[in-house]
Amino acid sequence: MHVRRQLIAGNWKMNGLRADGLDLARSLAAWLDADGTAVRDHVDMLVCPPATLVAPVADTIAGTSLGVGGQDCHAADKGAHTGDVSAWMLKDLGASHVIVGHSERRTDHHETDEQVRAKATAAMAAGLVPIICIGETESERDAGQALAVVSRQFNGSLPDGATGTNVVIAYEPVWAIGTGRTPTTEDVAEIHQRIRADARERMGATAEALLILYGGSVKPGNAAELMAIDDVDGALVGGASLKAADFQAIASAC
Ligand code: PGA
Repeated sequence: MHVRRQLIAGNWKMNGLRADGLDLARSLAAWLDADGTAVRDHVDMLVCPPATLVAPVADTIAGTSLGVGGQDCHAADKGAHTGDVSAWMLKDLGASHVIVGHSERRTDHHETDEQVRAKATAAMAAGLVPIICIGETESERDAGQALAVVSRQFNGSLPDGATGTNVVIAYEPVWAIGTGRTPTTEDVAEIHQRIRADARERMGATAEALLILYGGSVKPGNAAELMAIDDVDGALVGGASLKAADFQAIASAC
C-alpha cells in the first residue's frame, strides 16, 4: 500500500469538442462518485482538457469528486500575450492543477527549464498545483544520461518555495509518450528514487509528501505493474485518458 494518496491525471492534449468532452467528464465523475471506497479513498482523479473546455467541464463536474486542470499557462498574470491563458484565468474557472513543461511544449514551443519554472511559479501564485513534467529523450537514455537529464530538469524547473504539497512532478520519458513503449520497472524505480532524493535536497522533509507521477503509454494492461513501484504516486495519462473505461481501469489499478 502506498504511503501517499495517489493522483491519476488525464491529459487530453488537443482532443475533444464540447459534446464528447462533456460526456467523458460526466461519465468519469459519475463512476468515481459511485465507486466510492474502491478508488476515491486513496486516489484523486483529474482531467486536463484543452483550454476551450476547462470552463464547461468544471461546470459539469461541480460538486463531484473529479477535478479539472489546465494543460499549460503563461508565466504572466495578464497582459499583451495573444493566444495565451494565465494561471489566474484557469483558477477562476475552477481548475485545481495545471500541467507545465510537457515535452510536447518543450519541443513544439521550445520551452526551457527556466520558462517552465516561471510558469510553475505563476501557477503556485494563483493557487494552482503545477504538474511539472520532466523526462529524457531516447538518445539521452541511450547515452546513459537519463538520470542526469531528469535531475537537471527537476532542479531547473522547480520554483523556489516548492514543497511536497504545492507541486506535483511527472516523470515522462519522451520516447514512451504515445508510443506504446514503457521503461522497465527497474528504470522507472531508479528515476523516481532519484527525483525523491533531489526533492529531499530542495524541500527537506516535505519531499516525503511529494507526488511523483509516471507518464508515457500508461494503459489498463500495464497500470498495476507501474503503479506498484515504490515512489510512483500515480500517473499522467494521455491517449488512454480519452476513453472512460480505460481511464477508470488505470485508476482502479492503483
Ligand atoms: P500517453 O501520453 O499516455 O499517450 O503516452 C502521456 C502524456 O503525454 O502525458
